[in-house]
Amino acid sequence: MRKKIVAGNWKMNLNKSEADNLYNNLESKSFPEGVEVVIAPASIYLDSFSIASKVSISSQDVSANDNGAFTGEFSAEMLSSLNLRFAIVGHSERRTFHKETDLLIFQKVEMLLKHGITPIFCCGESLSDRESKNHYNVVKSQLSQILSNLFPEDFSKIVIAYEPVWAIGTGLTADPQDAQDMHSFIRGLVSEAFGSSISSLTSILYGGSCKPSNAKELFSMKDIDGGLIGGASLEPESFEAIINSF
Ligand code: PEP
Repeated sequence: MRKKIVAGNWKMNLNKSEADNLYNNLESKSFPEGVEVVIAPASIYLDSFSIASKVSISSQDVSANDNGAFTGEFSAEMLSSLNLRFAIVGHSERRTFHKETDLLIFQKVEMLLKHGITPIFCCGESLSDRESKNHYNVVKSQLSQILSNLFPEDFSKIVIAYEPVWAIGTGLTADPQDAQDMHSFIRGLVSEAFGSSISSLTSILYGGSCKPSNAKELFSMKDIDGGLIGGASLEPESFEAIINSF
């Protein structure tokens, strides 16, 4: 059975004591059986949370380079030395504000896999892509590097997060059936590339204004295996309610 995951992307929010409080609150809770809870704090806090026991810790990014003269960056090897399990790559904010390309994101995926870290690979279309009915093509092309260039055993370690850009931080959520249709399309692409046993085990998360009021319906969809949560992961009650929506 594929893994159910609820991951909170804290982005560039929370000072250290606020982050500690949120983390301690989560570590004191129990979660539904079989649901992996992940938090992605700002990178400067990762070391202090690497002792987490109930939640798994994710980075929000990683360098595409091994090591060396890359001021301000941090490598997959460094993340691995903190025993981190996950790293988000290809988030739309990095694609937009840092001009990350599909090739660069692929290089980051390779680096993470080399160091035993699970990439949470984000993809998703813009509003104009959806309005022009080009959303399936856009998502397919964002996935093409990892579908064409990874070995099956490496791909099987990846988690995918479908995040329509127009739904991120806007309060607009994809209609659960529309989200299901895209998740099913993605699973079909994985199946074409790697076969049905890998595709049936690939966790595909939904992200984009997921909140307590819509999480249950989204998570009840056949191909939605959890969520990547931004704003609602910063409030202990709402994040917990989302986790308990399974
Ligand atoms: C995100 O940034 O990954 C995200 C899903 O944000 P939000 O939940 O705030 O829309």
